[in-house]
Amino acid sequence: MYADIILPLALPKRTYTYSVPESVAALIQPGVRVEVQFGRSKRYSGLVERVHHQAPDYEVKPILSVLDEVTVVTPQQFRLWDWMADYYCCTLGEVMSAALPGHLKLTSETRLVFNDQYGDNFSDLDDEEYLIAEGLHIQQEIVVEDARKILNKKTVFPVIQRLLNKGVLFIREELQEKFKPRKVTALRLAEPYRSQPEQLRQVMSDLSGKERQLEILMAYLTLEKRQPIVLKQEVLQKADVTKASLNTVIKKGILEKYAREVSRLGGYEDELVEADTLSAQQERAVQELKAQDKKVTLLHGVTGSGKTRVYVEMMREVIRNGGQVLYLLPEIGLTTQIIHRLQKVFGNEISVYHSRINTQERVEVWKSAAAGKSVILAARSGLFLPFKQLDLVIVDEEHDPSFKQYDPAPRYHARDTAIFLASLYGAKTLLGTATPSLENWHNVETGKFGLVEMPERFGGLQLPEVQTIDLREQLKHRQMQSIFSKPLLDQLQIALDNGEQAILFQNRRGYAPMLECEVCGWNAMCRHCDVSLTYHKHTHRLRCHYCGYVQEPAKVCPACGSGKITFKGFGTEKIEDELKLFLPNAKIGRMDLDTAGTKSNLSALLNDFEEKRLDILVGTQMVTKGLDFDNVGLVGVLGADALTKFPDFRSGERAFHLLTQVAGRAGRKNKRGLVLIQAFDPGHPVIKEVLAHDFPSFMQREMQERMTFKYPPFYRLIHLELRHKEPKIVNEAASFYAKTLRAKLGDRVLGPVIPNIARIRNYFGQNIMLKLEKSAPVISGAKSLIRQTTEIMLGKPGWSQVQVAVDVDPV
Ligand code: ADP
Ligand code: ZN
Ligand code: ZN
Repeated sequence: MYADIILPLALPKRTYTYSVPESVAALIQPGVRVEVQFGRSKRYSGLVERVHHQAPDYEVKPILSVLDEVTVVTPQQFRLWDWMADYYCCTLGEVMSAALPGHLKLTSETRLVFNDQYGDNFSDLDDEEYLIAEGLHIQQEIVVEDARKILNKKTVFPVIQRLLNKGVLFIREELQEKFKPRKVTALRLAEPYRSQPEQLRQVMSDLSGKERQLEILMAYLTLEKRQPIVLKQEVLQKADVTKASLNTVIKKGILEKYAREVSRLGGYEDELVEADTLSAQQERAVQELKAQDKKVTLLHGVTGSGKTRVYVEMMREVIRNGGQVLYLLPEIGLTTQIIHRLQKVFGNEISVYHSRINTQERVEVWKSAAAGKSVILAARSGLFLPFKQLDLVIVDEEHDPSFKQYDPAPRYHARDTAIFLASLYGAKTLLGTATPSLENWHNVETGKFGLVEMPERFGGLQLPEVQTIDLREQLKHRQMQSIFSKPLLDQLQIALDNGEQAILFQNRRGYAPMLECEVCGWNAMCRHCDVSLTYHKHTHRLRCHYCGYVQEPAKVCPACGSGKITFKGFGTEKIEDELKLFLPNAKIGRMDLDTAGTKSNLSALLNDFEEKRLDILVGTQMVTKGLDFDNVGLVGVLGADALTKFPDFRSGERAFHLLTQVAGRAGRKNKRGLVLIQAFDPGHPVIKEVLAHDFPSFMQREMQERMTFKYPPFYRLIHLELRHKEPKIVNEAASFYAKTLRAKLGDRVLGPVIPNIARIRNYFGQNIMLKLEKSAPVISGAKSLIRQTTEIMLGKPGWSQVQVAVDVDPV
């Protein structure tokens, strides 16, 4: 008997054949993992795809052990992987690598970590398990190879797998926040009041006249009645008083603080609340969605129209029928808000899955998906879960480019893959956004997708008023204060005076994107990439945003020796800094990759803004994404030209999306929000369309351009990037590559050209672009030609190290 095995590596063949020894034959079936050797000595956990009796015409190695008693990969998952490898022009091994979580991928080098929570009672373990558990208990972390030495045995994957299943150890994955149970501050009555609540009456009368302190105590007592733990945050919120008053109550020895661990998984301990009553518009949207016979529907609802509530309604229906929902979000870091909103309604029916949760949590979600858990809220990796009965896939903010994975392969678009995934289960897909992508608007126009629209904001609120500020005029009349126009500063002041909050958007982090010599024009460039270094004032360092290279800023010009070195341009850090000069009393927060690198920093920041401890939030595109604040009176965009003038066929679309989305953050419960866009070219068509909230004109104009210049959605693009350390080699390889493609595809092939940034991390690049008409034979022909050409090129002398990145449907 033989088995075809998928290995988690970028290998040319889709599967490799191994023989099945008699001893394990009964356990082998498609979907279980086996231990095999590949290459001279490396071992991997591979996946059985097929079992058969056709002996290959080469000598095969035997399967060494079987790791699973039941299948870990479903037939649907196999089909999804196959589709991805084919559609995105990569190998099945690359897809498998991306798809399987760490605990299902073992190699000789896998790092094993002891699970402290297991404790040291090993009485449930057999002899071999015990030896490894004990070794790990002492050393805390070992590699699989060490386990072989401990047991003095070649085949150890099965033992390790058993220990993983029993929760004795877990796999260390790099780049992961270490598992810490989350600690929150809770409150309880201090003694003697905890054991003798009758004594509280005295306290109450002592507090008479101290309104705020009384309110706190009352809030605490009400909460205590209905829940086992009362969080400090909850009391503050309920009593609506300051921390200072609470601290007084604590100082008086009435309440006391204590730390309480909450598990992060399914840790929702609050009461559930009824979902809000649907508005008329929401009611209509739900009816239309339910009546929809198309498999995929685009929900186009303006910012603030209340799409989330519509999702909730659709999800409830699925849950009632015992089905599962996958809810995909572009960036899970920004979604604590959504998680809270959904948890309030669904409680522990919801699991969360993304790259920032740790291995144990991931194992849990993986299992719960297989067991039929109702709702999984996930970033793009959620596509790979082993669903049992998937009935609905929701893709929130479908236009967001971060749904596309770039490195490493598979370079897949999670939204498009989600549609295929749904089709495997016969599930429906709901794509929601205020600013549809051109691709999906086209799908609506051609009748492929259904459309449901929500043109009004919830509660009859008006869309914000958008105005432009002409920076040329401002400069001419000397109205600029640093990078702020007069109207912007005035409106900021007014917002502050009215107790409203503001958001300022600048799509550039750091302090200044350039350090330049005023005398000779020299500027500080990265040593490894052809880009200028960005100055970060807080750390007083120059940093490359492409490779992370860091150096100290020069005081004298290395080219001419002059001391006249200045910072050019402005990033979020500088905006924050300068704003403090003009608005000294404002409390300003900054949200970008530098300040919101970790999940906890980010949620602290959002929390501060939400609870109005900050007046102004300065940020990069992070601030545009689906956040819902109720007190933002003003949104300012500092330099819109960087968006509209960016040299890329998508810049118009991207600018419209970003500006509309950031504008959508403005607006208060009872008052129309104001958006000010600073630009040197305020007459740019995209800016005018944002001003007028004119989505139809934008679409029409942009579609026309795409058609004229042969871009998506009318043509399909495949982008190829070749890279090598030697410019000469990559240049030659790329011209050979393009010539080979051109021989068959003619002028559908563009390039090679040197990319905007010619060198990144010391690798020189050459780009080739294919523009293909939307015809299945042309596209599949082009893809197999790419596979062949890559193989031929890599086979030429001296070119075997050229890297090729194939990007289908680049964003
Ligand atoms: P969108 O995602 O479409 O931009 P949201 O779902 O964030 O809009 O809703 C906008 C605001 O309206 C939120 O503050 C939300 O709580 C509120 N809202 C939406 N629907 C309802 C409803 N049916 N009842 C009460 N409030 C609602
Ligand atoms: Zn100089
Ligand atoms: Zn660099």
